[in-house]
Amino acid sequence: MIRIIHSISELQKWSMDQKKQGKTVGLVPTMGFLHAGHLSLIDAARAGGADSVVVSVFVNPTQFGPTEDFDQYPRDFEHDRRLCEERGADVIFAPAVSDMYAAPVTCWVEETEISKGLCGRTRPIHFRGVATVVTKLFNAALPDLAVFGQKDAQQAAVIKRMVRDLNFPVRIIVAPIVREEDGLALSSRNKYLSKDEHDRALSISRSLFAAKKALESGIRKDALAETGIIRKALEEAGGVVDYVEVLDPDSMMPLTDGSVRPALFAVAVRFGSTRLIDNLRVERA
Ligand code: AMP
Repeated sequence: MIRIIHSISELQKWSMDQKKQGKTVGLVPTMGFLHAGHLSLIDAARAGGADSVVVSVFVNPTQFGPTEDFDQYPRDFEHDRRLCEERGADVIFAPAVSDMYAAPVTCWVEETEISKGLCGRTRPIHFRGVATVVTKLFNAALPDLAVFGQKDAQQAAVIKRMVRDLNFPVRIIVAPIVREEDGLALSSRNKYLSKDEHDRALSISRSLFAAKKALESGIRKDALAETGIIRKALEEAGGVVDYVEVLDPDSMMPLTDGSVRPALFAVAVRFGSTRLIDNLRVERA
């Protein structure tokens, strides 16, 4: 049976015990309502050398803006428990909000460069909430390594920068995006999509993969011009585009020269009231 831990001090003790036994501890932070994308992170933790894996399930209030979906965010702990157990995780850490955040919260962790663009423009407090909760999860789980998904490319870049700048002794692994067979990137928020919205949202992966193919085959050359083509495809499918950008995948800064490779296309778009993000890397000209 997978062990469920609610208390921070109990998780710290568990982690220290694992390390005393010579085991490497891996952390997989999630907000629950788990799907195959999350579960692939457990596999990536094992493949990266984790002997003991803790999955945190915590819908973090501080990364949601006042008008966002914190209250409506889907939750199903029994489903999460079963999936984590089947996938062979050792522990689920499921703290209460009141244990993670004693009011008032007056200390924050903030990355001030990578977090400003892309999702940071429309979600100004989001990455401060993410960096803060990941710091708290690191201090609770004391992991040797932690796994994040490339699905949230900006988040992964923010965490890597935080770990570098603040000297966290944690190795960061970024695992590839898991997609549905039809191409849509798995997300807990896909649950909000109607059948029609789901079909229209396929324009996201289709337009990204079409751009990759056109650029890598050399049919087209300018990655900057490609963002206009992607935007048009999303709008024709009825999406309300937040951004379509092409970036340096390491720095996450926008490219100013469309011939530079590798390049990362990043998209945020709403279908109905559901905001979806996706990204895809283009390797060569
Ligand atoms: P979330 O529960 O949405 O906060 O996501 C928890 C972790 O799972 C994050 O590191 C995400 O990037 C990762 N993740 C979410 N969806 C996917 C996916 N489709 N493929 C790979 N990783 C994912």
